Amino acid sequence: MTNPSLLILPGDGIGPEVMAEVRKIIDWYGDKRGLVFDVSEGLVGGCSYDAHGTPLTDETMEKAQSVDAVLLGAVGGPKYDDLDFSVKPERGLLRLRKEMDLYANLRPAQCFDALADFSSLKKDVVAGLDIMIVRELTSGIYFGEPRGIFEEGNERVGINTQRYTESEIERVARSAFELARKRNNKVCSMEKANVMESGILWRAVVSEVHEKEYPDVELSHMYADAGAMQLCRWPKQFDVIVTDNLFGDLLSDAAAMLTGSLGMLPSASLGAPMANGRPKALYEPVHGSAPDIAGQGKANPIACILSFAMALRYSFDMGAEADRLEAAVEKVLADGVRTADLLGEEGVTPVSTSEMGDAIVAALDSSL
Ligand code: NAD
Repeated sequence: MTNPSLLILPGDGIGPEVMAEVRKIIDWYGDKRGLVFDVSEGLVGGCSYDAHGTPLTDETMEKAQSVDAVLLGAVGGPKYDDLDFSVKPERGLLRLRKEMDLYANLRPAQCFDALADFSSLKKDVVAGLDIMIVRELTSGIYFGEPRGIFEEGNERVGINTQRYTESEIERVARSAFELARKRNNKVCSMEKANVMESGILWRAVVSEVHEKEYPDVELSHMYADAGAMQLCRWPKQFDVIVTDNLFGDLLSDAAAMLTGSLGMLPSASLGAPMANGRPKALYEPVHGSAPDIAGQGKANPIACILSFAMALRYSFDMGAEADRLEAAVEKVLADGVRTADLLGEEGVTPVSTSEMGDAIVAALDSSL
């Protein structure tokens, strides 16, 4: 049997720093659990532009298409702010998502007990929170045509178009229902059917998929603005939320912050199953390249490490090993180990990126 393959794209800023800690975890699984991954590495974002004049080369794109899963750090930075739109670092990431057709973006919002005080909400509102937002990622207003800035009469007009086909809605709805079956069996679909035709279609198609294929899952619908309010009022009412690209962008960021630092938040973007049955998959932390702390050893590697845990669960069917890694993170946090972004308590000295990685490896050791 061949080893599962993984393409690592550390990217820019703190990307390489947090990815170095993931490499320690991958090595640990090889050494201590006999789970050996075929790991290759490539460039994406600003570093690829510096080396090749493009944020993603065709070779790297091809490699991404051929591996079992891609793990990405972060892209971007002030150095690249003035580049033409077509070669900006983010275009590398968008190309990966588009060409791999990663239509379901999974953003968990999970509150570790040790960090419940961190939330801007009351502890009892967030303690034990575990919800999953499934955001449609390859269509909707970020991709619809026509788009652009046009002259109209004596002024400019900016246009973007919200467009969804039935099949685009169906496949992301299926992803949400499948996930719900493995969790608490509840899906809430969010749109603005009260003011948008695309929302009316969204609601109808999600209901049809539910009725025909997933009648055992509890389905509710909510207008996305009401959903935003409910996420702040009582987030624990949700299990899986499914929504479009734009609303998902906003709602998942809001939900994420319920749980504390950006440095804690993983994500997965999944596409259709490949020949081997595994979904096309890209795993990445939610945070960006954090240029304000890059190169200082201050970055929290947990978001990237938890992204690897999602890869274990969703690409490699190693749910028990994903549980082990998440439990190791939980233990380290419960022991009071904190990177600088997690400092709330007085008198706690922050650990470095590398020390956090080492602490998680030690917790993995103690799990054996
Ligand atoms: P950011 O996520 O990089 O940083 C926001 C704040 O959170 C900063 O203060 C940063 O220090 C902190 N932070 C982020 N990750 C952290 C971590 N792991 N540990 C500790 N602190 C962390 O967002 P930004 O400042 O808006 O963007 C910076 C650059 O990143 C921009 O070029 C932007 O385009 C890019 N970006 C990339 C991605 C991506 O690669 N997916 C996502 C968002 C932003």
